[in-house]
Amino acid sequence: MLALSHSREEFRRRFGGEPRIFRAPGRVNLIGGHLDYNEGWVLPIAVDRSCYVLARRRNDLNLRIYSAHFDETLEFSPDDPRPVAAHWSSYVRGVAWSLAGEVPQLPGADLLIESEVPLGAGLSSSAALEVAAGLALLGLAETAMDLTALALACQRAENEYVGMRCGIMDQLAACFGRQGCALWIDCRTLAVEPLPIDENRVRIVVANTMVKHALASSEYNQRRRECEEAAARVRQTHPSVRTLRDITWPEIEGLSCSWPATLRRRARHITTEIARVHAAVDALRESDFESLGRLMSESHDSLDSDYQVTSPELNTMVAIARGLSGFLGARMTGGGFGGCTVNLVRAEQAETFTPELARRYQADTSRPPDVYICRASDCAGELHPSQFDDQAAGSPPAERSLQ
Ligand code: ADP
Ligand code: MG
Repeated sequence: MLALSHSREEFRRRFGGEPRIFRAPGRVNLIGGHLDYNEGWVLPIAVDRSCYVLARRRNDLNLRIYSAHFDETLEFSPDDPRPVAAHWSSYVRGVAWSLAGEVPQLPGADLLIESEVPLGAGLSSSAALEVAAGLALLGLAETAMDLTALALACQRAENEYVGMRCGIMDQLAACFGRQGCALWIDCRTLAVEPLPIDENRVRIVVANTMVKHALASSEYNQRRRECEEAAARVRQTHPSVRTLRDITWPEIEGLSCSWPATLRRRARHITTEIARVHAAVDALRESDFESLGRLMSESHDSLDSDYQVTSPELNTMVAIARGLSGFLGARMTGGGFGGCTVNLVRAEQAETFTPELARRYQADTSRPPDVYICRASDCAGELHPSQFDDQAAGSPPAERSLQ
């Protein structure tokens, strides 16, 4: 748990003055892998690990940003050229750039960033940072913004300023997370419906493999191109199809016979995954956790064999989980090529499942993983001063809503 009193002290030491504190959570996606950029449906939860941005308004328009993770302070004026290479500060500058298009007179700010969300592990530290920074800048400007608009502004920052073509799921999960609930998100209409998870019956266990392969972002962009190409091929016979969301596997199984095998596999993953998400939502509504778990495991297999975005470590983590008592289902979460798995586990076995998964993974790979029972948590917001010193991430009862 982050000690915010230390962060505030650090802020005073570096920048002087008292900061306001803004928080946004990371997320795990229970099912719906690589569907957001196909305008499909996803089912994430906001996790109980957050990014915190401590913020104070400046008298000029500059942004001065310190990241505790990188132990680096940088200062930018709005007139500085855009960065040519990706850099951590681009996520924050990108949000300022994106919001400046919508909010007149965005002030300059001193920002201190401290995050519990592991970077690059598939728990979406990037969206947590963007949304927390966005809330901070809006808060300092004394401006409110619709949360869907904020999520879109943060996505635009990552797409156009950082140059990472992410979908909208991560930012929506950070903005709309609800304690004890998964979020049923339609990535075309951006409708979000919280669906309660009975935590007396099941727990969600997140397992970080502690490995991230370098090809993750290039392969991610490649998958996006493949999906676009598959949709373009489908359009030749079904002109109304905008993305692979608009078609089912039985409808394209026959017509895709002549496609390159790789393209066909990608389309099969996306279209069958959409069917699995719908079935998973039905299962969750009925608290049918056996079915939900089975669908999660099928999702992993499809991401492994058809979409080919897993890694040996992710497959090892899932294979070990499958042999443990209490296991209901598991899959990789996030973009893939390393990072985390998400496991659905019977509540009464979660306390034994968790250390056993960690022990066996370490025995198999000689790498200590980070495995923990994760609670579905509330969305982003500003912390009230009374919470500064006893902040329990994710479930702050008195947190101020920013909408
Ligand atoms: P993920 O979102 O799954 O964690 P990404 O590659 O999308 O992985 O985003 C990780 C990047 O986001 C980091 O490399 C860094 O540039 C930025 N980032 C996230 N958290 C922080 C932080 N606390 N301080 C500075 N930059 C951060
Ligand atoms: Mg990210």
